[in-house]
Amino acid sequence: MKLQMVDLLGQYKKIKNEIDKAVMDVFESSAYINGPAVHKLQASLEKYLDVKHTIPVANGTDALQIALMGLGLKPGDEVIVPAFTFVATAEVIALLGLTPIMVDVDPDTYNLTGEIFEKAITPKTKAVVPVHLFGQIADMENIVKIAKRNNIAVIEDNAQAIGAVYTFSNGTKQYGGTIGDIGTTSFFPAKNLGAFGDAGAIFTNNDDLAKEMRIVANHGMEKRYYHDKIGVNSRLDSIQAAILDVKLKYLDNYAAARQKAADYYDEAFKDIENIQTPVRSKNSTHVFHQYTMRVKDGKRNELNRYLNSKEIPNNIYYPVPLYEQEAFSHLAGAVSFLPVTDMLCKEVISLPMHTELTEEIQDIIIDAVKNFF
Ligand SMILES: *Cc1c(COP(=O)(O)O)cnc(C)c1O
Repeated sequence: MKLQMVDLLGQYKKIKNEIDKAVMDVFESSAYINGPAVHKLQASLEKYLDVKHTIPVANGTDALQIALMGLGLKPGDEVIVPAFTFVATAEVIALLGLTPIMVDVDPDTYNLTGEIFEKAITPKTKAVVPVHLFGQIADMENIVKIAKRNNIAVIEDNAQAIGAVYTFSNGTKQYGGTIGDIGTTSFFPAKNLGAFGDAGAIFTNNDDLAKEMRIVANHGMEKRYYHDKIGVNSRLDSIQAAILDVKLKYLDNYAAARQKAADYYDEAFKDIENIQTPVRSKNSTHVFHQYTMRVKDGKRNELNRYLNSKEIPNNIYYPVPLYEQEAFSHLAGAVSFLPVTDMLCKEVISLPMHTELTEEIQDIIIDAVKNFF
């Protein structure tokens, strides 16, 4: 049996007829760009997430860039971002000439907290980008409260947690990506809601921001061939939209399959002293984009090598803190050593996590981990 980190083929085969028909319908319509399929997906996402505006874009990195551009930030403005994330989150900030201020994360949830965010605020802080890492929503109640008080915009990078739900202290529930001023997501194939290529989306309940971001994403034009500002070309193509609209119907089932697999891993590893299984946040559901555990006592690299030697797929998200990446080395002063991020980069390891896992497959993975310890 060939084990994999994700099983996109297995997932496709279960809904092949529906997907194939949706794609063929786009071929027949020949409306490849901004066709009815894109509008349909937009409406479906707005309904599912209970959000006023969805702006489909080409990928999750563009979504972040367009969000920052839509806010009208200026070079020199500071944007607070966790150092323990995929590079895209900080990359677009630097790309626009803004200053990414990299901060630490919580050692259990791996996410930004209100407390960490608040300490990094300066008079130049214009935005904060909490990342809902591995499928769980950051400390949004506190982050939003602190941001409002300081007039700072909140962009949620929800590339890894679409479908996760946050519960506020008063009992109100909201989907991740719809809580801050703007939310962004990625439909990269391996994400929880994956297209068959690149795709992404932006969410907001703010009419003005929605209008602004639509203009940015479309060459800075509102009226055709009249360009009010420098924008970008970031469109979601109709084929991807048609596929996503089919898969959105299964997103809750997919999350349930991931949660079941996560529980099974948790149970298997609960007596291994060196392993800290993923800690569930008390405010957020966990949709397990990744099953990422911590391996203590310096055994992570050894476990990684052992699993590789047994051909058990595993990955390290992320091996190097952003502030140690060569690309950010010019940002002296904006970046500095962060102890939790440093520790996580040395301790985390992710095991296969996808919608097609069976207990039979998981047992092979679990036995290998147990044999190592
Ligand atoms: C995947 C990802 C992105 C980028 O999305 P793309 O669609 O690959 O451009 C941004 N942020 C995070 C946290 C991601 O995991």
